[in-house]
Amino acid sequence: MADLIVGIDIGGTKVAGGLMTMKGQLSRSSVVPTLAAKGFKTSYGQITNLIAKLLRRAGKRNQVVGIGMCAPGPLDPRKGLVISAPNLPGWRHVLLAKMVSEKFHLPAKVENDANAAGLAESLTGAAVKYRHVFYVTVSTGIGTGIIINKKVYHGKNGIAGEGGHVTIDYRSPYRCGCGTLGCIEALAAGPAMARRARVRLEQEHTTPSLLRDWTGGNLSRITPLMIEKAAARRDPIAYEIIEQTGFYLGVWLAGMITLLDPEAIVIGGGVARIGKPLFDKIRKTILQYTLSPRFAAHTPLLAAKLQKNVGVYGAASLFLPAGVKAEAEF
Ligand SMILES: [Zn+2]
Repeated sequence: MADLIVGIDIGGTKVAGGLMTMKGQLSRSSVVPTLAAKGFKTSYGQITNLIAKLLRRAGKRNQVVGIGMCAPGPLDPRKGLVISAPNLPGWRHVLLAKMVSEKFHLPAKVENDANAAGLAESLTGAAVKYRHVFYVTVSTGIGTGIIINKKVYHGKNGIAGEGGHVTIDYRSPYRCGCGTLGCIEALAAGPAMARRARVRLEQEHTTPSLLRDWTGGNLSRITPLMIEKAAARRDPIAYEIIEQTGFYLGVWLAGMITLLDPEAIVIGGGVARIGKPLFDKIRKTILQYTLSPRFAAHTPLLAAKLQKNVGVYGAASLFLPAGVKAEAEF
């Protein structure tokens, strides 16, 4: 009986893969370098070699249900098409699902990485109890996924759910990578946190801070991880930066709640590891800015469960049956 799924997470530096059971358990994961700089043929070869290796591990081919893949957008999940991939040179209009499916004689799907991660959290992770989930990952960027009735909401062109590029301050001096001013990604992702810490410490030179000590005064070396560690040691500047990040995320999530009224919000990514101080500030701010705080007060804000290998979970979950709680219609 077919009971295994191949999951492949395609990134700019590495390709991670694994085998997942139909119960959502991941095993036998593996990582290879993408070798992206060598162009499409090489990086595609790295992906297919990893798939071949995982299929050998799976045993008989008829034990495998399908091959799920995820990559950063923009892509068209319905056609399995990678439109372009900023960190994969040479990848333009690649019909990835079709190519992989024909090569391995198995069904294949491709999904945006944040959408896939959101789906995995709702099927096997922090939000298994909920049908309608808003997923957020905060790291070097901010990715989101809208899960409705245990399925990814794709919109008309397959590109819905780009919540990181919703602006919360059109007068912001900070321009996002997408070209818009004040996207939440430009204000609250890891690089934005590091920038705010640097600017804050450059403004005055008297407040002591571990961030000054740890970077030897070279403030351009501040990282989000340093801010997290300094805050844990009660560094006032680091704490201030985290509070500010929580405020921005809270204002933005208040809007998302007003718009979607989700059953739960899941927050993942490196920045979410900061935990309680960040989450507390987000919760408080949501209640100040959302339309119905009475309801929003009961919207759980959950820490992501699938931290390591979340991309592989996400990719493989494309072939999981929708959760038992999914309704027949929505
Ligand atoms: Zn943007």
